[in-house]
Amino acid sequence: MLDKPSAKSDAKTVAKTDPALLSRFAAIVGDKYAITDPALQAPYLIELRHLFEAHTPMVLRPGSVGEVSAILQLANATKTAIVPQGGNTGLVGGQVPHHNEIVLSLNRLDRIREVDPTSNTITCEAGVTLQRAREAAAAADRLYPQLLPSEGSCTIGGNLSTNAGGTAALAYGIARSHALGLEVVLADGRILNALNKLKKDNTGYDLKNLFIGAEGTLGIITAAVLRLIPRPRAVETAFIGVPSAEAALELLGMAQEHAGNDVTSFELMTRRCVEMVLENDSSSRDPLAAPHAWYVLVELSSQLRDGLRLILEELLEHGMERGLVADATIADSLEQAKAFWRIREMLGEVQRHAGASIKHDVSVPVASAPAFIAEANAAVTAFIPGSRPLPFGHLGDGNIHYNVTQPAGADKDAFLARWNEMNAVVFAVVKKYGGSISAEHGIGVMKRDILPSVKDPVAYDLMRSLKALLDPNGILNPGKVL
Ligand code: FAD
Ligand code: ZN
Repeated sequence: MLDKPSAKSDAKTVAKTDPALLSRFAAIVGDKYAITDPALQAPYLIELRHLFEAHTPMVLRPGSVGEVSAILQLANATKTAIVPQGGNTGLVGGQVPHHNEIVLSLNRLDRIREVDPTSNTITCEAGVTLQRAREAAAAADRLYPQLLPSEGSCTIGGNLSTNAGGTAALAYGIARSHALGLEVVLADGRILNALNKLKKDNTGYDLKNLFIGAEGTLGIITAAVLRLIPRPRAVETAFIGVPSAEAALELLGMAQEHAGNDVTSFELMTRRCVEMVLENDSSSRDPLAAPHAWYVLVELSSQLRDGLRLILEELLEHGMERGLVADATIADSLEQAKAFWRIREMLGEVQRHAGASIKHDVSVPVASAPAFIAEANAAVTAFIPGSRPLPFGHLGDGNIHYNVTQPAGADKDAFLARWNEMNAVVFAVVKKYGGSISAEHGIGVMKRDILPSVKDPVAYDLMRSLKALLDPNGILNPGKVL
């Protein structure tokens, strides 16, 4: 296990490990669902990137909202710290217990309560995986438009708590834009029922949005009403070689002029990114005959059955005339489209073959993305000569996954030991462009210590006040975010 980045906590409460108290928690869910066996706890404690060590006296798996409420009542009364967890796919260490807190897994709250195709809503419990929600919507001829590569494991509760982005946020928005209503268990065990299907509800403060993106620090989301949209009738996908990030940006503008909101994804990658996938994933092939410095994966979706292909062909033609497109291929089948997407989706995983990477999930105004990348590249290679920047991501959202791989042959641990310094180098460029140090993954513990230096002081102060109001005993995910 690495000890970078820091997982230190200033939480005032730590889990009480006395057996009598643990028995009271276990009694709420039944012994079967109160896991103390380390082997059975492992899936809840092992964090995907192995960046954080986790320990817990007990993983609780409540089977109802009432049980979640009873757990929080007891936790609040005894000042026992709780870490909520969905699918354990989070990338900032927010979902694991760093200080022996009790883990509250929502994975048994996995009922799809209702699909209402007329109101265009789906009502899901927190532990429903994103994939199941999407499948249930598709069965009713609807689309639930959140799309993350982790969809098989991540949950609706986790998606909302991290305000997840993903590859379709360009057209459909981030998690926050999908939620119409929420059911939340507060720190004292009270159940906030804001589970309505209303698009229009101006009856005071929009409380649900407090809990979205709060990373489990303000309440436990137990269910949500999510907005559905009609299922697109046509989808077209192209893999495009472009000469520069600037050309990609100009092509984005042109795509939006041609296709408006039908541009559902616009993903940017460098040649090195694509090469890394080709070298390490035997089922991936280079979609284009010759190499190009940059690539764009574009997807258009439309409610109309006909004409989308033509729009994409015209876009590529105009792009070529303007020197923005060097070469391109349009998927002729669903399999081919999936193969294009596989290259994009494998990027996070194949990087480990080149050694350690220091990762950043940042956003800048869309127009500044190319300048940000160029400047960050210069800054990180000046900071650690030979380090290899691997920028890729959701160009349409100005969201770049700015990862930096260690110099070839360098010592892995020595490189990772400079995680915080490297962050500082990259975040200085982010700041210059008015960007955000966390575009879609959240703060968790990974960026907690940096937050005060980048957040407006008044905003930060308000965040602390809200935390104190909603969780006065500091039992909900202490040491995360704040
Ligand atoms: P967890 O990891 O279990 O928890 C995440 C946070 O939410 C924690 O702070 C936890 O305490 C809190 N939490 C979880 N459930 C609840 C609840 N019910 N109530 C209150 N708090 C809760 N993210 C993106 O945004 N875009 C991407 O494109 C993307 N791609 C990914 C690809 C891969 C391969 C992987 C592994 C991850 C990716 N992620 C991405 C990150 C991750 O999948 C998302 O952050 C996701 O929303 C987390 O959901 P989860 O259910 O796994 O939550
Ligand atoms: Zn992403």
